[in-house]
This record gives sequence, structure tokens and C-alpha cells, in this order.
Amino acid sequence: MTTSTPTANTQQIPNLNGHVSNTKVAAKVKKARSFMELSCKSSGSTLKSVGRNDRRVLVIYTGGTIGMVKNRNGVLIPQKGAFENLIRGYPQLHDNTFWRQRLSETDFDTSLLVLPEVKDFDIRIFYKIIEYETLLDSSNMSEAEWVQIAEDIMSHYEKYDGFVVLHGTDTLSYTASALSFMFENIGKSIVLTGSQIPIFEPRSDGSDNFVSSLLISGGLNIPEVTIYFGGKLFRGNRTSKISVNNLFAFDSPNCVPLVEVGIDFQVNKKAIFKPTVIEKCQLHNRMSKNVGLLRIFPSINSSVIKAFCQPPIEGVVIESYGAGNIPSNREDIINELRAAVHRGVIFVNITQCPRGGVEAGMYETGVLITECGVVSGYDMTPEAALTKLSYVLTKTELTYKEKVEMMATNIRGELTNTSSIPVEDNTLIDALAVSLNIQSPKQLIEVTEKVFSALLLNAIEHDELRTIKKMLDMGADVDAPDSEGRTALHEAILKENLPIIEFLLKNGANVHMKTRCGESPLLTAIHTDNHKIITLLMQCGAHLASMDAKPIAELLSIAARTGVLTKFQSLKIAGADLSMQDEMKQTALHKAVLCNHPQVVEYLLEQGVQDMTDVVGFTALDYAKKLNNADMVALLNKNNVTAVINVSADGCVIL
Ligand code: ASP
Repeated sequence: MTTSTPTANTQQIPNLNGHVSNTKVAAKVKKARSFMELSCKSSGSTLKSVGRNDRRVLVIYTGGTIGMVKNRNGVLIPQKGAFENLIRGYPQLHDNTFWRQRLSETDFDTSLLVLPEVKDFDIRIFYKIIEYETLLDSSNMSEAEWVQIAEDIMSHYEKYDGFVVLHGTDTLSYTASALSFMFENIGKSIVLTGSQIPIFEPRSDGSDNFVSSLLISGGLNIPEVTIYFGGKLFRGNRTSKISVNNLFAFDSPNCVPLVEVGIDFQVNKKAIFKPTVIEKCQLHNRMSKNVGLLRIFPSINSSVIKAFCQPPIEGVVIESYGAGNIPSNREDIINELRAAVHRGVIFVNITQCPRGGVEAGMYETGVLITECGVVSGYDMTPEAALTKLSYVLTKTELTYKEKVEMMATNIRGELTNTSSIPVEDNTLIDALAVSLNIQSPKQLIEVTEKVFSALLLNAIEHDELRTIKKMLDMGADVDAPDSEGRTALHEAILKENLPIIEFLLKNGANVHMKTRCGESPLLTAIHTDNHKIITLLMQCGAHLASMDAKPIAELLSIAARTGVLTKFQSLKIAGADLSMQDEMKQTALHKAVLCNHPQVVEYLLEQGVQDMTDVVGFTALDYAKKLNNADMVALLNKNNVTAVINVSADGCVIL
């Protein structure tokens, strides 16, 4: 057996005589050797070169018209287990040629479907469909299904860039509203959609609804629960179903659409509800059943109200007249309401009118309802008010007063009260319009976006927090990307300016925005090796799970070969798997041994990295022995390394 002497940053594969002896293996070793040399040579390559612009979307198919097919009697029914296979046959929904090309990649997940290339989107959407065991007409759904959908999304939250829920239209607004409250500090996009005509029928609206939802959830970074329908993306908790048979079946009368889709996608960036706290996304998976929706009508009997508010009911949404009025000449009604409030029932007042909201001080009849202890729900839809009440009632840590206050507070963009309307400084926009003689609103939006984005990046470059604040007050989009897809957050991380990073995160910066090369802010932070920044981003929910694994593998490899310990610490804080194996099944431990970096070996062993066999069946300890590196052998033995050998059922080493 020959041995070789290790030289820094060079990996050499010892001769394998006596270990494995067939020609197939020899070929693999040759391949391994050239890979090692190649990989050593490429140690200076940038991450950009390996970043891919894939986005992964999880689709949860719950039922509804969108996936139905007609049975022999011409009745629409959901067909169990057929949806995904049928979708694979529609070229506008699945690019089979591209999918086949990717099959050659060892780590390609064949259960994914691929959306064809779409104009203006320089990303590829890969999606996985989960079909529910029982496909439901949404009229049969209740809070149990909301919890199930939410938990399924949460358990896959880190692995995917966005989520699409295929759902019947009848209770779509209820589910969207419920999910919007259940997901606290959401950082990714959840788009609910369905269709009026099944997706497999020639005139279906389902195809656009589905494709646009995939593109929006995977590519537009709108961290909200939304509904896409009929060419518009709405905030979910602002919607109601407004038509039984029109293809434009949803509307959000008190909130502008977040996206309008025509030839291109017009995103209303200012309307997007942005995070204001540094916290991870959490799921609140309880919703109270003890709620009701009571519509006031002229001949209403107080016994109806009495019956309605009996235990176990804990909260009631009252749909009152106009600006929030109930009859002031009906002492019996007022007394029932007072008595129920006294018993601890929470009442929320919303209007029966689809547009506008409660302004309780406007009429005597409105003042009265407030005096009874009924809280204003402003312009919430019935669906939003009811599901918010379900959510708030299960916040057992809150007092009655705090729950009431929460009902009147805008927590997910579900209501407009005067304090939630931002006052914008338009001086710069006006000056731009005049000095550049801009005539059309569309052109003005485009120009201001570009100017604001450049000024924002310039302020970050010069560490000017006050200017950044001013720019955001003027309406600059905190997530506006430059031509490379880098955002203000990426730049501030590169500058390692912690106060600015904190400020951006508290003012809506999305921690999941990736550059055109697929680089997330967390990956940028790993490059800087600034552990405080990495920790801060992690607190905000950043993670590596939805990233392409290759850049991480390459970083580990470079760090192992060059012996940079801080990089390992950065990767560890960021939650990277330090035991990750490359194509040759080598870990950082193998490489650190081969390149003689004992401090790295020691660190990896401390972190519990196990000594696994590589593609040719060698552990790091084997290499240390073959290189006659006694110190390394002692180090590995001292730490009592247990080799994890990949063996097949018949006892052979798996190559
Ligand atoms: N009844 C159906 C449902 O809500 C209607 C639809 O999907 O559009 O499930």
C-alpha cells in the first residue's frame, strides 16, 4: 500500500489496494481523484456560480371545484388520487421536458412538478402536491380543517419558499382569514385559490388561478395569507365571495388588491402588510368554536339575542346597520347585550354594508352600542371578524380587556382605523414628477421605485440611518431589489451595520428574499462571519432549509480545506448540518484531515460530527492513518470516533 504526504489545501486519495477490488470501483476512484483535484482548484470560486434560481412551492389540495371531474351522471365530484397525474399531462402546468433534464441530477426530487418558463420571472417554480385523504367541498370545512392546513404548512415551512392551498370557493374567505391570524409573524407567502370551473375543463379559470398562485407564492415575496382569483391577489382577511357564477368571484371592498395580473404582474408594494418585530413565524393552532355571527334586522326579537349569547358562546360578531347602528328605541335588545357583556361575552360590531366600516360616534344609535361594551370592528369583513374572534378567544394568556383591545387593533392588515393609515411625505415624488415632466402614474411609480431604491442603497453604503428612515417614510420599498436581486438588507449585512439591519427588519425587510443567484440574507451573513448578525437573522426566522444545498456544501468544503474555523462557527449558528456529505460522500472531517487542519478536526468532533465512510469506503481516520499523520490519528482516536459505515443488506460497503 502506498502512502502520500499531505500538502496544505491539496487532497490526495491513497491507493485502495486490499480494500475494494473491482474495476467499477477503480473507475469511481479515478473520478473521485479528479473531483478532488477539481474541487481543490475551485476553492476560490464564488458562491454565485453555484447558486440556482429554483423556488420550491408546496401545494396542498384540499378539494373544491378546481380538481373535480364529472361522473357518469354529469355531477361534479372530486376524484381521489387523480389530480397530480392529470396535472402532469398539461404542458402549461408542468414542463415535462425540463423535468426530464433535471432527472440526471443525483439530488433531484422526482416527485416535484415544474412550471414552464414564464415571461418576466427569471426563476423556475418546482412544486410538490400533497392531496388530502378526504377531498372536501369547502362547505363541509370547519376549524378542524383550518388547523390541519395550518399545521401541514408549518411542518414544511422551512423547506419551501411559498405555499398554495387549493380549496373550494364557498368558504375560501373564512379559511384565508383564519390562517392569516393563526400564522404569527409570517415571513412567506401562502396563497389560497380555487376555481369556478374545474381545471381540466376547456373554459376553466382554474389554470390561471393555479399558475399565477404558484408564481406569486414562489416568486413575489408577499409575506401574507392571500387569495388569488380572477386576475387579482387579495389580502385573505379582507375578502368575501361576491358571486356564485362569475369568474371574478372574490373582492376585497375595503382594501386594494395586492397584485393585479394582466400581461404583467402589477404589485401594489405599499399595500403589503410588513413585519414590525424581530420574531420567527409561529403557529397558533387553536381556534374557538364558541363564536357566532348575529345580523341585526328590523323586527329582531330580544329572545333571539338571549338565545344566541348563551354559554358556551364566548364571542359574537354583530352585523349592525350602516356606520354601526342598532335600534336605540329597543331597551330589551340593549339590556340583553349589556347582560351578556357583563357575563364576559365579547361583542364586536361590524357593518352589514360591504364597503366602509363602523364609525360608532356618528349617530346616537351607534353611541349606544359602544356604551353597552361592544367593541368596534371597524371595516372588518364578517369572515375576518369571526375568525379573529375565534383566534383571540383562545389566547388564554390575555385578560378580557386585552382580548377586547386586540379585536379593535389592526394585527394582520384586516382592518383600517385612523391610526393604521400611514401619513406619507410626497415631496420627493412630486418634485420628480415635475422636474422629469412625468405624465403617467405608471411611469411615475417606475421612476420613483428606481430612484428610491438607489437612494436607499446609497444611504446604507454611507451608514446613514436617518436617511434610510426618511426614505421609508417617503414610501421607498424596503425590499426593492437591485438588478442582481440584492436588497437593502443584503447590503446592510455586507456593511455589517447591526443598528441598520435591526431597523430594516423592524420596518418590514423580508428575511427570506433571495438574490437572482439564490443567495438569502442569511447566506450573505455567513460570508461576513459576523455571528451577531447571523443570530439576529435566525431570531427573525431566517434558515438555510429552503436554500439550494450546494452553496452550503461548498462553503463547508472550502472552510475544511483552508482551515477557517470561524466559518464553521458561522455555519453552525446558522443551523447548517456540519456532517453534510458531498457527491463523493466526504464530509468536512475528511477534508480537514486530508488538508491537515487539526483545529478544524477538533472543532468538528466537539460538535458531534461522526466519522462516516466516503464513496470509496474510507473514514477520516483511515485517511489520517494512510497519510501517516500520527497527531491526527491520536486526535481522532482521543475523541473516540465511531465510524459510520454505509453497508448494504448483504454486508458490502455501499459505494
Ligand atoms: N361547493 C364548492 C366548494 O366550495 C364550490 C367551489 O369549489 O367553487 O367546495
